[in-house]
Amino acid sequence: MHKIISALNIKERSSGAFGKTEMDIAGAKMLLVRSPIDGKEIAQVQCADLASYDRVVRDSIEVFHEWRKVPAPERGQVIRRIGEALRDSKKDLGRLVSLEVGKILAEGEGEIQEAIDIADFAVGLSRQLYGKTMHSERRQHRMYEQWHPLGPIGVITAFNFPAAVWAWNAMIAAVCGDTIIWKPSELAPLTALAVNSLCREVAKSSGFEGLFSLVVGDGPELGARLAADTRVPCVSATGSCSMGCSVGKVVGERLGRSILELGGNNAVTVLADADMKLVVSGILFGAVGTAGQRCTSIRRAFVHEQVYDECIEKLVAAYRQVKIGNPLENGVLMGPLIHQRAVDAYQRAIARIPQEGGEVVYGGNIVTGLPSSLYVEPTIVRARSIIPLMKEETFAPILYVVPIKDVDHAIALNNDVPQGLSSAIFTKDMRAVERFLSQAGSDCGIANVNMGTSGAEIGGAFGGEKDTGGGREAGSDSWKQYMRRQTCNINFGDTMPLAQGIVFS
Ligand code: NAD
Repeated sequence: MHKIISALNIKERSSGAFGKTEMDIAGAKMLLVRSPIDGKEIAQVQCADLASYDRVVRDSIEVFHEWRKVPAPERGQVIRRIGEALRDSKKDLGRLVSLEVGKILAEGEGEIQEAIDIADFAVGLSRQLYGKTMHSERRQHRMYEQWHPLGPIGVITAFNFPAAVWAWNAMIAAVCGDTIIWKPSELAPLTALAVNSLCREVAKSSGFEGLFSLVVGDGPELGARLAADTRVPCVSATGSCSMGCSVGKVVGERLGRSILELGGNNAVTVLADADMKLVVSGILFGAVGTAGQRCTSIRRAFVHEQVYDECIEKLVAAYRQVKIGNPLENGVLMGPLIHQRAVDAYQRAIARIPQEGGEVVYGGNIVTGLPSSLYVEPTIVRARSIIPLMKEETFAPILYVVPIKDVDHAIALNNDVPQGLSSAIFTKDMRAVERFLSQAGSDCGIANVNMGTSGAEIGGAFGGEKDTGGGREAGSDSWKQYMRRQTCNINFGDTMPLAQGIVFS
């Protein structure tokens, strides 16, 4: 443990405020960081106070005024070096992710790979921040739009993607000419410190120390402060729906811009002709991976009545093979939940299942004999119809399996929840696929075919509808949210024609 954190430049007692410089916060409250793997303390971090927070924001604004003047392709070169630095530290960072949030190593490293991928994407993007040229209705006029940097971007992140979500925002925002203020989850500040320190080093060597800044807190207060801060034009917030309601309201009240990436409640539809091999491996990774703690985790499966029993049987057989334990060990597929509150929520849901008419056919228990009390069994629930629990996001590996009659039935159930993040269908029937993907099909931000709901690539815009918040991050044209658009009209003639043919003389 100590080897990993010192290799990544993390002190046993670190500062939790980094603007242009690292700040030593006198009399700071200490945030104790424990690993969910064994409950042992990893390190302590000073919580940013009001004064250090304020200094970080002021530094970020100051650096923004210089960084925005750097040509975008040149900004891209700084991000290229960041991508290289992330590559060099991928193994250590991946281990830290596992240690801090309990992901298995492959997923910990996968998360850093995502940060590398988005850095690569951002380098290319730095030469593609395109605006449109429009034909003016007025003679000897030119009209076009251009995109300018916006300002410091506040990035509030959730515990379950302690590096990748920040990178989706930060790498793109940086090539757009913005500076970034990161408020990581109080459950995963060490990954943030390590990633931020590495990026800061690269930025510093390019003369832009303070391009990436960081404030660590021990609860919602710092994020709330960032949301209310009129000096921060855009706040990107990832986390629970209740957090998003609060951030969206606070940012909205000051007419700021918010990007909300909130809870999901994702479903797969399995039709009678589905390739059961794909179904089982897709659901296994989607429902059990990251111990069911992904926003895109599969929580509901709508399975055609003809293959319902067969599907449950095969899933149970696959779940039996899942090795639960220390996520740093080879062969383990599922580590612990993040904290006791998550285990309590899992147990509350398990207790409600029979009361609501469901039946646990696999799992439902805490796993004993492991180094902490945070390990639970992945769970399969047979439910003849929708039960109220299925409308909630329990952030744990519980899968509800419901029989369906046809694709329309499945689409109706898929959409009948408050959240709208990810969805998938397994079938070879192209008509059913097209119905699922049509305007009357899945209402989610992500709709997949013959694959699960999780494990998004960075090239597409990531996010969801309804209570998931409506935000989009990462690829496609998500970059536009981190810039301000300007429409320009140029008169190169010697008369003053007015739009709409108005004569004013
Ligand atoms: P959380 O809402 O408890 O915390 C997320 C972040 O918000 C933390 O940094 C926290 O300090 C901050 N925060 C909490 N309340 C706040 C407030 N009132 N104002 C400002 N900031 C506040 O979420 P979590 O437990 O860390 O993460 C799990 C949740 O995140 C799940 O619901 C999951 O689906 C969601 N999530 C969504 C996405 C996505 O892209 N849609 C990605 C990852 C996680």
